[in-house]
Amino acid sequence: MSLDQKAARVFGDDEPTHFGSGWMSGTISVFLGVMAVGAVICFYIPELLTSPEVRAVLPIPLIRTLIQLVIAFGFLLGFLSALLRKRKVLGFTGIALAMLAALGGGGNVPVEGAVQTTPVYLGLDWFLLNLLLLAVVFVPLEKVWPHRRGQSVFRVGWTTDTIYFFVSHLLVQMSTLLTLMPAQLFFDWAIHPAVQGAVRSQPFVLQFLQCMLVADLAEYTIHRYFHKSRWLWPFHAVHHSSTEMDWLAGSRLHVVDIVLTRGLTFVPLFVLGFDTGPLYAYLVFVSVHAVFIHSNVSWRFPRWVENVIVTPRFHHWHHAIEREAIDKNFAVHFPFLDKLFGTYYGPEGAWPAGYGIEGNPVPDGFAKQLVYPVRPGKRSGAA
Ligand SMILES: [Zn+2]
Ligand SMILES: [Zn+2]
Repeated sequence: MSLDQKAARVFGDDEPTHFGSGWMSGTISVFLGVMAVGAVICFYIPELLTSPEVRAVLPIPLIRTLIQLVIAFGFLLGFLSALLRKRKVLGFTGIALAMLAALGGGGNVPVEGAVQTTPVYLGLDWFLLNLLLLAVVFVPLEKVWPHRRGQSVFRVGWTTDTIYFFVSHLLVQMSTLLTLMPAQLFFDWAIHPAVQGAVRSQPFVLQFLQCMLVADLAEYTIHRYFHKSRWLWPFHAVHHSSTEMDWLAGSRLHVVDIVLTRGLTFVPLFVLGFDTGPLYAYLVFVSVHAVFIHSNVSWRFPRWVENVIVTPRFHHWHHAIEREAIDKNFAVHFPFLDKLFGTYYGPEGAWPAGYGIEGNPVPDGFAKQLVYPVRPGKRSGAA
């Protein structure tokens, strides 16, 4: 039984899920409960469970108030759901989680002195923060403007993708290190102070756009290699194994895919030496844009916008099951790169009929997908 099915067995029922049925309040209550418990745990062992970069910018008093609010709403919505719904498991789970967070101290857990920086840490705070922000933005967007109507937040593979999201955020220290390492170790020689000086003397917006272009050129090349190479494809096939697209589907990336793509994409950014301001702005942009282009959002953009910047429709075609769309649309920011290199596919106004890889060669579940590319005899041909 898949994890999706196990979750459905524990929390699911045959009752309706429309507004007023107690399903939405119950689901939100469980979500808020998980958030609150996670946040309280962060306050107990901040040196191990939170990242120094996030700690440095978070307004802690505001976060403490937010935790109290999350607990209060978790309680309220849990009660509401339990009142409205025959099967009480959603409501009671939400109440139990909110209670656990409150008994654990809620937003008032004291932190003695300054938090020590330890050599190894996990990004539980980074996970909670990003999940909350992205869910608050993208779940309503996909409900109000869905491309595929009726697709649930809990679509096929949602548990797998949540684990990907969780693990990649938890291991933020390792992934940052591995992203910076190839450039710092092997491309020091390529740095020219005069070139870096000229790059940095440009206006913020120009540097930001150059970051996008340089990164996309690198990303395009690596991405195409992942599709063409018999050895690399199984690692990237994991990303293409989603049969339903939404904001969480983009998280499904094999660790080898992440490390190689990010590590190599960072090389030209490092060598050119962009200012930290535009570089960080680009990193924020790319993380949100990557989520957006996978999302189940039907927004129709004018043709000129679709030609300038990658939209969900463009990237959905990259994931399409249709044969004519295979090995097309490799760019992540600028569709003109695909036009330039002859890999563009974008029939006017149309969306793919389905997503995934013919024959579904990739198994379900995080652990199986982790070993899939290195299992002998399991290699599928390049797409
Ligand atoms: Zn791909
Ligand atoms: Zn994708």
